[in-house]
Amino acid sequence: GSANIGVVGLAVMGSNLARNLASREGNTVAVFNRSPERTHTLTSEHPEAGFVPSEGYDEFVASLAKPRTAIIMVQAGKGTDAVISELVQRFEPGDIIVDGGNANFHDTIRREKEISSTGIHFVGMGVSGGEEGALNGPSLMPGGTAQSYETLGPILQTIAAVAPDGEPCVTHVGTDGAGHFVKMVHNGIEYADMQLIAEAYDLIRQGTGKTPAEIADVFAEWNTGELESYLIEITAEVLRQTDAATGLPLVDVILDEAGAKGTGAWTVQNALDLGVPTSGIAEAVFARSLSSKRAQREAAADLPGPAEAWKVADGDADAFIEDVRRALYASKIIAYSQGFDEIVAGAEQFGWDVHKGDIAKIWRAGCIIRARFLNRIAEAYADDPSLVALVVAPYFRDAVAGAQDSWRRVVAIAAQAGIPTPAFSSSLAYYDGLRAERLPAALIQGQRDFFGAHTYKRVDRPGVFHTLWSGDRSEIETTPSSH
Ligand code: NDP
Repeated sequence: GSANIGVVGLAVMGSNLARNLASREGNTVAVFNRSPERTHTLTSEHPEAGFVPSEGYDEFVASLAKPRTAIIMVQAGKGTDAVISELVQRFEPGDIIVDGGNANFHDTIRREKEISSTGIHFVGMGVSGGEEGALNGPSLMPGGTAQSYETLGPILQTIAAVAPDGEPCVTHVGTDGAGHFVKMVHNGIEYADMQLIAEAYDLIRQGTGKTPAEIADVFAEWNTGELESYLIEITAEVLRQTDAATGLPLVDVILDEAGAKGTGAWTVQNALDLGVPTSGIAEAVFARSLSSKRAQREAAADLPGPAEAWKVADGDADAFIEDVRRALYASKIIAYSQGFDEIVAGAEQFGWDVHKGDIAKIWRAGCIIRARFLNRIAEAYADDPSLVALVVAPYFRDAVAGAQDSWRRVVAIAAQAGIPTPAFSSSLAYYDGLRAERLPAALIQGQRDFFGAHTYKRVDRPGVFHTLWSGDRSEIETTPSSH
């Protein structure tokens, strides 16, 4: 075969990735799709790409130069398993199968285990940036063996997004499912980022009465500062859009029910399994669920809110908007801090050598959460690779300290005004929980010991203790409870 790389699955993502690959010097790209129409469309619309098309798996595999490398971009789940099994039957030891779909990392770990016994490399790769990213430069998060990355890395570096400092947004994240795990957390952070922005918009709109177009200007200005990011940028674009049919702001005619494809929920499910408090991400996922509970929302629509309507006093709007901006920045720091905590916990649990700073770097371009702020995260981990939480790094500590008065005012006003700010509020609660010298967890241990003899430790001496609650209430020293 003559192609140095192949793509299986030519829907929007696969087609665009194939075109991206073909546009790079030195690549000859084999393409294959289950239904041949998609292959015909792609090759006829893009003769300049010089694709090597196939109508079947035998032909596709024969068109690849050895060692063969193929990227699968099909529907995650059963579709991916079906394609893998066809390729595995035809590939040889040393060949590389890359799954660029949105696979659940548990599936990736399973597949890698099954496939590695054949000598074929299996690489689960997170791809972020949607269709546009796939075509012009995505952020790429490949897992799999370090050996496979030696072949794959140089190809991926040419198609990945390029960060402002010229570095390609791709790194070998870790073995087996590491890439898909990190992509999952990326999506979870994306949910939190979007929810925080939405809460900021809602507060400004309800508090100041500004129109969506006026609020677009606020976001456009925020995008020139420390909040600079793709999501802030597109927020301004969406808010500025007028609906052609009604002449109303588009945001006012869009049904207020947020959809989800599941990766946010995966991030939270795995955070629960790993015992990592990713409350910002969780609240963002739950906020979308709540928005879609139409029947409950209708039934609850006449539940009472605050007695008095709330508006920012005339002349205070700019100060309020600045408070909201700071609250947004502080909450965003918490969301990322929690997301990186999950990456650290996942790496520990599944045995991945993940370089946190490198993850921040490959998210600087190409992906949905791309932001200036990611440089700060990379710097924080470079300064202190054993940093226990992002929020305690000097830069972030100062940023949150500078924002906290605003943050508290905004969360207090939101509560009093009856404006839901689950992500702002939970981020602040997390921050206060994290920095608390004493937590009421001591009382919870007391309760647990009372009803289940779950024991407790003391602040003043080592050992494990139990109070004889149903006896004379004296304390005994015990061995750790097994229940
Ligand atoms: P879809 O997820 O809509 O999947 C359609 C493709 O899967 C078609 O090529 C289809 O072939 C193929 N397919 C489905 N089942 C099988 C099967 N059993 N055997 C062979 N091929 C099969 O396509 P997208 O381009 O939207 O996404 C591709 C992957 O990329 C998905 O895993 C998605 O989650 C992921 N992804 C998507 C992003 C996005 O923004 N859309 C961003 C990042 C990742 P056929 O034409 O024959 O039906």
